[in-house]
Amino acid sequence: MKRLRRRRRLLIAAMLAVLLLPAGGILLFLNMHPLFLKQDVIEQELQGSFDPAENIRYVFGGNPEQVRTEGDVDLSKPGDYTIKYLYKHYSRKVTVQVRDTVPPELEVHPYTTDLAEEITVDKFVEKVSDASEVSVDFQDPEEWNEAKEYKVCIKAIDSEGNKTVKETTLTRIKDETGPVISGTDEIEVLQGGWVDFLAGVTVSDDMDPNPSLDMDDTKADLNTPGVCYVVYTAKDRSGNVTEVERKVTVKENEEMNEKTVYLTFDDGPSLNTGKILDILREYNVRATFFVTGNNREHDDMIKRAYDEGHSIGLHTYTHDYSEVYASKEAYFSDLQKISDLVESITGEKSRLIRFPGGSSNTVSAKYTPGIMTELTREVLEKGYQYFDWNCDSTDAEGNNVPAEKIVKNAVSADSKHINILMHDTDAKNTTVEALPKIIEYYREQGYSFKALTTESFAPHHHVNN
Ligand SMILES: [Zn+2]
Repeated sequence: MKRLRRRRRLLIAAMLAVLLLPAGGILLFLNMHPLFLKQDVIEQELQGSFDPAENIRYVFGGNPEQVRTEGDVDLSKPGDYTIKYLYKHYSRKVTVQVRDTVPPELEVHPYTTDLAEEITVDKFVEKVSDASEVSVDFQDPEEWNEAKEYKVCIKAIDSEGNKTVKETTLTRIKDETGPVISGTDEIEVLQGGWVDFLAGVTVSDDMDPNPSLDMDDTKADLNTPGVCYVVYTAKDRSGNVTEVERKVTVKENEEMNEKTVYLTFDDGPSLNTGKILDILREYNVRATFFVTGNNREHDDMIKRAYDEGHSIGLHTYTHDYSEVYASKEAYFSDLQKISDLVESITGEKSRLIRFPGGSSNTVSAKYTPGIMTELTREVLEKGYQYFDWNCDSTDAEGNNVPAEKIVKNAVSADSKHINILMHDTDAKNTTVEALPKIIEYYREQGYSFKALTTESFAPHHHVNN
């Protein structure tokens, strides 16, 4: 009996198993995830292309087009990104690892230089590129300070540590040739003229891209007819020096060889301009007025002086040092104002300048250090001539300096060309008083009197700022 029961139990169990197994299978089937992906972790190359759809193996009971994805992958930045695949109410997460595994691309070329140049890696690199940041350096930096050929290894490493090494050569040679100076052909200058001796002069070198160039014109006396020389010295970084002498022929300027006095009156016009002009007319003498814009009520005197054959020069519009010498731009803006005023009165552009305080003034240093050094060069480059003086009447030492003193100082000069500094202001009555005696003195000495032009003898003071 016992045995029989056991058998029956086995039979029931077997029957149950046969009945239940497919049911379990069906149940299992109903719970199954229908979305099958290729990888749960995707390795993705930096800057590559990535399509999440390619990771779908198949969709049970549907098709890949029905799958949506969520989440962004920044292919320009290494990192781990999560994206979600969504199908009906099912979802799967996948990690995308954006990595740079490709070593940089590097192209190098040989480099030849002298022994003086500092060797940097960029001299050898033709091209370098990578998906991420890349740094280039020497594999084994050396001094490379002998004249010979070296093997040089250049390495490029990207931010993920991928490395490319390329070999090339560095040729160090001893540079023994100096730079080449050109543009120093012979030149002719009119006596008393001015030349920018650096204009058009260039220097080049086979090794040094920036050789130095110095010009020395201290031996070039443009006030004396004859031949003189300007010396150019160029030097490369290896210390090779080239020196070139440029021949300058100073042609005689007729006016320069006459004994001439240039009477100059600064700061006008004023109440005294008419009296000065009367005297000049009486003696049939030409002079020069360096005018300002401060006495507009006497503008008619500028017109009269011009009409009577005198030269009108540009002194300053404001005569306020702090304004005029505030900057180079301020100087030229003031100059333009007085230039425009003169042109509007005379109809002619003046190219004659007298700097307030003269080119040797030091007061400008208070406002702009070095300004006179730049202005004296730049006004000439712009086509002006500036005139200092080689004889000071000293009438600016105070008001009503005794006429005898002014005469004494004004006739103290002893040279072929005399440029006398005087002033034309309301207060300078003794200057007017002294003027006839000054003219008479120089006339007796055989001098003629001329108004300034840009070609005239131009005394230039030593620049102190
Ligand atoms: Zn002045």
